[in-house]
Amino acid sequence: MAAYDDLKQELIKYSEEIGIDKIGFTSADVFSELKARLEIQQEKGYQSGFEKGLIEERTEPVRLLPGAESIVSIALAYPSRMKNPPKSKKGERRGMFARASWGEDYHLVLKEKLNLLATFLSERVEGFSAKIMVDTGELSDRAVAERAGVGFSGKNCAIITPEFGSYVYLGEMIINIPFTPDEPIDDGCGECTKCIDACPTGALVGPGQLNAQQCMAFLTQTKGYMPEEHRDKLGNIIYGYDTCQVVCPYNKGIDSHQHEEFEPDPDLVKPPLIEFLSISNREFKEKFGYMAGSWRGKKPLQRNAILALAHYKEKSAVPALIDVLTQDPRPVLRGTAGWALGKIGTEEAFQALQKAVEKEEDVQALEEINKGLQFFDNNFM
Ligand code: SF4
Repeated sequence: MAAYDDLKQELIKYSEEIGIDKIGFTSADVFSELKARLEIQQEKGYQSGFEKGLIEERTEPVRLLPGAESIVSIALAYPSRMKNPPKSKKGERRGMFARASWGEDYHLVLKEKLNLLATFLSERVEGFSAKIMVDTGELSDRAVAERAGVGFSGKNCAIITPEFGSYVYLGEMIINIPFTPDEPIDDGCGECTKCIDACPTGALVGPGQLNAQQCMAFLTQTKGYMPEEHRDKLGNIIYGYDTCQVVCPYNKGIDSHQHEEFEPDPDLVKPPLIEFLSISNREFKEKFGYMAGSWRGKKPLQRNAILALAHYKEKSAVPALIDVLTQDPRPVLRGTAGWALGKIGTEEAFQALQKAVEKEEDVQALEEINKGLQFFDNNFM
C-alpha cells in the first residue's frame, strides 16, 4: 500500500460529502499525446484563441506547480432538461442559452469545491501546495479527466462519464502529494459517428479533433460578425452549442439535478429576444452576470439574438431591429440588424434599410446593410 492511500480514501469520502460527483487521480507527468495534438492544432490554425499559456505550460504540470506530483480531477453533473420552459411563439420569440450556461457560473462552483479539497489536504499534510484550475487554466480539463479515469474522451471532444454522460463540468488541482493514479477507462465510442455527422459546420474534423474556429459554441462567443455561412445554423441559440452532446447515445435519458446551483431559471436561459436587444448594461449584469454565458459581455449575445430573430423571420421584431440599425453605437450590431431586416423582409424593413444605406459610415456595417437590401432584390421584388 502506498504512503498516501489512506489519505486518498479519506479525500474521496470527503469529496462525496461536499457534493463532488466524480473524482479521479493522475500523475503530474507530461501530457505527451496532448502535446503532439496541440502542436498540430496550432499548425493548422484550429485553436480558439481563448487558450491560456504556451504548449509546454499546457502539457507539463510541473511548470505550473514546482514539486507537482499528482493531479486531482473532479466532475460535477449538470441538468439537461428544465422544468416548465417558456414557449417561444410567434410575436414572443425566445432565445436559448446552451446547458453549460444554466444556473450559476460553474467556474466559481467548481473552484469552491476544489478549494475545500485543498483545505482538507493542507490540514493533513505539512508543506502542501496546490494549483487549482477550472476551464480557463493552462491545463486541459479533459486531458486530465481522461487520464484520471473520470471518463473517456468522446469523438465529440467531450469527456463522457458512465454515470452522467458528458453533462459534467470539470476542474482539477495539481498538488505536491504523490497519490496513486487511477486507471483511465476504455474508449466507448466504437463505430459511432453521430456527433461528427450532426455537427453543422464540420468542426469535428476527425474523431476527437476539433477546429475551434468552426465550432458553433466558439462562434457564439466571438465579438465580430458571425460568418455568413453559419448564421442560419444557429437557430434560436444565443450562447454555446450542444448538438454534439445531445446526439450522443451516452447522454440519452441523462438529466442530473443534484446541484441547486446549476438549476436554470427558465425565463433567463430562454430570454425574450426583442427585449434582449435593448437591455442596459446594468440590467444585463444584474440578471445574467452570474451565468457562465455572460463572460464576453452582452454584445455577442445580442448579435446572436438578432440572428435568432432573423431565423424566425419575426416580423414583430422589425421596429426593435430598426432601432438597432439606426441608433446602436456598435457597428457589428447595426450591420447584423441590417442583414436580419433583409431576411425578415417587410416593407418597413426595406424603407429603413434604404435610409440606413445613405447614412451608415462604417464600411463593414454598410456591406451588411447592402446584403440586407439584396435579399429584397432576390426575394421580394
Ligand atoms: Fe462517441 Fe457517438 Fe457520443 Fe460521438 S455521439 S461522442 S461518436 S458515442
